[in-house]
Amino acid sequence: MLDVNATQHFVADDKWRGGNAAVALLTFDVDGDTPLLAEDAHYEHHLSTMSHGAYGPKVGIFRIIEMLARREKPATFFFPGLTAERYPRSIEAVLEAGHEVALHGYTHRSPVYNTPEVQVEELERGLGALAEHGAKPIGYRAPMWSTARTTMESLGKYGLAYDSSMFDDDRPYVLETPSGRIAELPIHWALDDWEQYIYVPDPDFGHIINRPSQVAELWIEELDAMRETNSLCILTCHPFASGRPSRLRAIERFIEFAESCGDVAFSRADAVAEAVLASRVTSSVDP
Ligand SMILES: [Zn+2]
Repeated sequence: MLDVNATQHFVADDKWRGGNAAVALLTFDVDGDTPLLAEDAHYEHHLSTMSHGAYGPKVGIFRIIEMLARREKPATFFFPGLTAERYPRSIEAVLEAGHEVALHGYTHRSPVYNTPEVQVEELERGLGALAEHGAKPIGYRAPMWSTARTTMESLGKYGLAYDSSMFDDDRPYVLETPSGRIAELPIHWALDDWEQYIYVPDPDFGHIINRPSQVAELWIEELDAMRETNSLCILTCHPFASGRPSRLRAIERFIEFAESCGDVAFSRADAVAEAVLASRVTSSVDP
């Protein structure tokens, strides 16, 4: 049973924190040009706007991988199956560097606007495309952070042990679904670079170009407060946005602050999910 009013939302114990005040996840949604194609197939002929998305899997992702190696930090990369097919070097580089690959749909269409049949097809085709490159994800994040009931209820059936598309907590929790228990790793717009940097006039995806120093400050304030509440701080970045030179620095400032605290651990999402699923579930949250 899955109840979005949270009656089936179980609180896990805090083993996932490993004694740290907070855990930070560096996650990257490798959308590439798939959101443009999902918006309308005719964008295939709009070379300039397509190249905006392509910057991620062509350039940005390699800068990010280099930075993570230099900083010795693990990360989780959510791939739409179509990005893996169109830009195979990007997923191969992530796997070679030892980071986690998780699923981000196939075409990057929001499950909410797909029929139940298409939602299942998106999971199957997405997993198939990632498997072609040797990735066997245990995690899922809905495109546009817009998940739907059929998708959530199907995750366990496909060996997916966690989701990261919900907003109703700032600590990981357990959801009971018809295909088994899954861990939920909740996210928030304040920790997403899309809201900070996306200027794409056609299609109208955003009109924002914030200063990276201001963005770093926002993320640092989020993490600092989350240390007090023993929360899971999930940074979500897109290689076509945060792979640019100035914006990579904002992620590095976030990392430097976390390291300076001395009580923040960095983890991959799969490790947190596994710890949550192995923990003692003590109570359910009231709706
Ligand atoms: Zn996405």
